[in-house]
Amino acid sequence: MTHSETLFEQAQKYIPGGVNSPVRAFRGVGGTPIFFNHAEGAYLYDEDGQRYIDYIGSWGPMILGHGDQRIKDALHAQVDLGVGYGAPTALETEMAKKVCELVPSIDLVRMVNSGTEATMSAIRLARGYTGRDKIVKFEGCYHGHVDSLLVKAGSGALTLGVPNSPGIPASLAQLTLTLTYNDIEGVRETFNKIGDEIAAIIVEPVAGNMNCIPPVPGFLEALREVCDEYGTVLIFDEVMTGFRVSLGGAQGLFGVTPDLTALGKVIGGGLPVGAFGGKREIMEHISPLGPVYQAGTLSGNPLAMCAGLTTLNAISEPGFHDRLTEKTHAVCRGLKEAADATGVPLTVQGAGAMFGFFFTEAPTVTRFDQVMACDVERFKKFFQGMLKEGIYLAPSAFEAGFTSAALSEEDIAHTTAAAKRVMATL
Ligand code: PMP
Repeated sequence: MTHSETLFEQAQKYIPGGVNSPVRAFRGVGGTPIFFNHAEGAYLYDEDGQRYIDYIGSWGPMILGHGDQRIKDALHAQVDLGVGYGAPTALETEMAKKVCELVPSIDLVRMVNSGTEATMSAIRLARGYTGRDKIVKFEGCYHGHVDSLLVKAGSGALTLGVPNSPGIPASLAQLTLTLTYNDIEGVRETFNKIGDEIAAIIVEPVAGNMNCIPPVPGFLEALREVCDEYGTVLIFDEVMTGFRVSLGGAQGLFGVTPDLTALGKVIGGGLPVGAFGGKREIMEHISPLGPVYQAGTLSGNPLAMCAGLTTLNAISEPGFHDRLTEKTHAVCRGLKEAADATGVPLTVQGAGAMFGFFFTEAPTVTRFDQVMACDVERFKKFFQGMLKEGIYLAPSAFEAGFTSAALSEEDIAHTTAAAKRVMATL
C-alpha cells in the first residue's frame, strides 16, 4: 500500500468520503487521491516522495506557484503582529483599493471567505436591490454550493452526478432559471417573456466548471443588453477568471462590464478569501449602509489580506499575464501536438491562464451538450497515465486546468512528452 492509500483509508473513518471537498476524492477518475505534504514552485510532493507538475494550483489561487517568497515573508510578518482582530485594519482598505483599481467596474468591494460566500451575497444583494426573486444561471456553470445556484450545476456536482442537490427546497430551486451557455437566442426568448421578473443573471464569463468554454462572440454583450433593457443585475462570477484570464479578469479581456462581480481564488493567494463588489448604487444596499444583510467573523482577516494583496501586487508587474498566457498556450500546443502525433481526436481551448481539453472530434466546444458528448473514459485513462508520469491534472473531465508563473519551459516540454507517451496508449 502507498502512503496515500493508507492515509485515505484513515481519512475515510472520520471525514465524509475522506475529503473536505468532493472532487478531491477522485470519483471522476477512479483510484486513490494523492495526499500531499509540501509544494514548491510548480511542483507538488506527495506522501510517497513523488513529485508532480501541478496544473491545478489549489484550484486556481496559486497563480505565482507554490511557496512564493514574497507571500511567505508577508505572512510571517503578519503572524507576529496578530492573526486576526475582528476589527478594521489598514490592510483591508489597501486590498479594497487595489481591487477597485484593477477591476474598474468595482466601486465598492466587500471581503468574504470563499467564492461561495461571494456569489451567495451577490445574489442576495441583487434580489434585495431589485425586489425580484427569480435569477438566471447557465447549465454546467458552478458558482459554489449556494442553495439557489446548485441547480444544473457544474464542477464536482456534475462529476458526482448530482447537478441538482437534494436538500434544496423545490420552492427555492424553481426561482432559478437555467439556460444554455452561449445560447444568445435562448436568453432573449426568456427575457422577452419574463425579463422584468428576473433579479440577476449570474454567469462565469469563461466557463471553467464544465471543462473550459470561452464565451462565443456576442454572448456576454447580449447578457449586458438584456440586463440593461429589463433592469436586471448582471453578475460576473469571476471567482475563477478574476486576475487570471487577464489582470482585469474576463471583463477586462472581453470588454463587457457587469454590475456586480464575485471574486475568489487568486484574490486570496491561497488563503480563504472571496469578495464581491460592483456599482456604488447597488453596493450601497449592503449593511451597514443599506438593509441587505451580510457579515463575517473572519472576513478581511489580516493573514488572508496579506497573502491576497501580495499576490495582486506581484501579478500587477508589467507583462505578467502576457508571459503566463504564452506559457498556457505552450501547454495547450503541447497537448494538441501529442494528440495529433498519436491520432487521438482532441480539442484544446482556453483563455489567459486557464485551459481545457476535450476528447472529441468537434473542432470547438461551445455548448454543455457537446461537453457531455466527450469521451470521459478516455479522459480517465489519460488522467491516470499522466499521474504516473508525474503530471497532476484536475481529476475530472469537467474542470479547467490552471497554469502558474512558476511553470518552466522544461516543465512544459516534460508535460508534452508525457502526453505523447500516454496518448499512444489510449
Ligand atoms: N464560482 C466559481 C466560478 C468557482 O469556480 C468556484 C469554485 N471552484 C466557486 C464559485 C466557489 O468558490 P469556493 O469553492 O471558494 O466556495
